[in-house]
Amino acid sequence: MLFHVLPKDELASLFEILAINRIVGPTRKAISKDGNPIWAFDWLNSFDELDLEYTSTSQSPKKYFLPYQETLSTFTVNESGWEKNVDYNHYHPNVFFGMHACDINALNRLDKVMLESVYPNPYYAGKRKNMFIIGVGCAPQPHCFCRSMDADSVLHGFDMFLTDIGNKYFVEIQSATAFEILKNIRTTEATNHEHAMFLQAVEERNTRFTCHVDTTDLSKILDMEFKSEEWVKWGDKCLSCGTCANVCPTCYCFGIQESVDIDLKGARKEAHLYSCNLVDFAQVAGGHNFRPESHTRLKYRYYHKHRGFVEAFEEALCVGCGRCGQACLAGITVPEVIGSIRQEAQQND
Ligand code: SF4
Ligand code: SF4
Repeated sequence: MLFHVLPKDELASLFEILAINRIVGPTRKAISKDGNPIWAFDWLNSFDELDLEYTSTSQSPKKYFLPYQETLSTFTVNESGWEKNVDYNHYHPNVFFGMHACDINALNRLDKVMLESVYPNPYYAGKRKNMFIIGVGCAPQPHCFCRSMDADSVLHGFDMFLTDIGNKYFVEIQSATAFEILKNIRTTEATNHEHAMFLQAVEERNTRFTCHVDTTDLSKILDMEFKSEEWVKWGDKCLSCGTCANVCPTCYCFGIQESVDIDLKGARKEAHLYSCNLVDFAQVAGGHNFRPESHTRLKYRYYHKHRGFVEAFEEALCVGCGRCGQACLAGITVPEVIGSIRQEAQQND
C-alpha cells in the first residue's frame, strides 16, 4: 500500500475527475426533530452535495449492489417459441465516494458468499467488479460496535481511503487505478511526520468507541444456549417486521417471484431481498412453516451471523454498524441480545 497526502482543497478536483462516472456518496437529506442532520447515500450531481462529515446513514449502500427488487430474466413468447433474456442490470462503473470502513468490510464479507462460493451470483459480481471505492474515516457513534466485530478498519476492498489529519487527508492507496487518478491532482508522498499524524488520528478515534460486544467464544456460547429462554424473551418483543435485515449491510436473503404478463406474451423472474424474521420466511410448499414462532426466526438470524458464518469463514456476518438496533421499533439491539445470552451462559455456572 502507498501513502499520500491530499490537501482538502483538492477534494473537489478529485470529485470532478471521477464525475465522468456516476457517483454515489453520503449527502444531507433532512433535519431530524432534534435538529440533527439526516444523511443518506444517493447519486450525487455535484461536489457540493457530498458530505464526508456524515456520522451514519440509516440505510447502507447495499441497495446499489443488492437491489431490494431486481429483474433477473424476462421471457417473451413469439411465433417460433419463447425467448429468454438475461440482463445483469449493470451498464456503468459506479464510484462510491465516502464509505466508512464498516460498509467496506460488509462488502468484503458479502463477497465470500456472493463471489467466492460454489454458486457465485453474476448479478452481484457485475456490479461489485465495476466499482471504484473511496473510503473515509468515521467518528464513532454511541451505537457503533464495529471495533468489537473487527470492522473498524479495512485493509482491502477499496481503491483509496481518506483519513482526516487536519487541513489534509492521509490517503491509503490500494489500487493502480487510484494511483493513476491521483497523478492528476496535487498530492505528495506522506512524510514520516504525516505517518505519525495518521496513527495519532486513528488512535484518538479508537478512544471514542463507547459500545462494545464481547465476542470471545461467542459461537460456542450460542451452541450452549440454543435452548435458552432468553431467545423467547427477545422473540416476544420482536414485531417480525424485517426492518433489521432491510437496513443491514450484510443481510442478503432473497426470494424469487415469477409472474406472467396479463396478455400471456411475456413473463419475468424477479429477486426480492427478504428477511429471516418475516413470518413466512421458512414456510414451504403445502403451508408448513419450519419457524412459526418469532423467537425461532430471531434466533436464526443471530445464529447465521455469529455462528454459521463464523464457522464457514472465520468472521461474523455482522460488522457492528448498529443500524439494525437504531431502526428496530422494538428496541432490539445486537449488543443487548448477545450480552444477555452471554450472561445466561455465565449464570449457568
Ligand atoms: S427490526 Fe426489530 S422488531 Fe423488526 S424484525 Fe428486526 S428485531 Fe424484530
Ligand atoms: S446485524 Fe446490525 S449491527 Fe450487524 S451489520 Fe447488520 S445492521 Fe449492522
